[in-house]
Amino acid sequence: MNIHQYYPIDVVNGPGTRCTLFVSGCVHQCPGCYNKSTWRLNSGVLFTQEMENQIIADLNDTKIPRQGLTLSGGDPLHPQNVPEVLKLVKRVNAECEGKDIWMWTGYLLSELTPEQQDVVDLINVLIDGKFVQALADPALVWRGSSNQVVHKLR
Ligand code: SF4
Repeated sequence: MNIHQYYPIDVVNGPGTRCTLFVSGCVHQCPGCYNKSTWRLNSGVLFTQEMENQIIADLNDTKIPRQGLTLSGGDPLHPQNVPEVLKLVKRVNAECEGKDIWMWTGYLLSELTPEQQDVVDLINVLIDGKFVQALADPALVWRGSSNQVVHKLR
């Protein structure tokens, strides 16, 4: 998996202070996408074991408490990202007690493959659906367009 950005401290992409990872790769091609540079799977840089370890360490940093991890992109549920994202969310669940996981995807919760669902079973909140320019509304919280849904899963 490749990633575009990792922010160890982020207060914009989800509630509270968070660690946020923007992965590479998205098939949805939404007109008006704010993050077109992330569409290609091979854009950005390789996500390494060291980066994964750093995220776990940052989430457990007691000097700057984080509420949790945000996964965005690109699309964390792109089929080619799913194995690495699954490994990461399993580690967060096992090693970062009390931290939540929020994820943005262009797929619909109702249409996930079993492999994508295995990831979603381990996260707390999924914001799903493509960005639809005609339904865009800056007043929406955590969503770019009103067709998207904030699913509080657990
Ligand atoms: S799902 Fe998100 S990243 Fe992908 S094209 Fe749509 S707005 Fe852009």
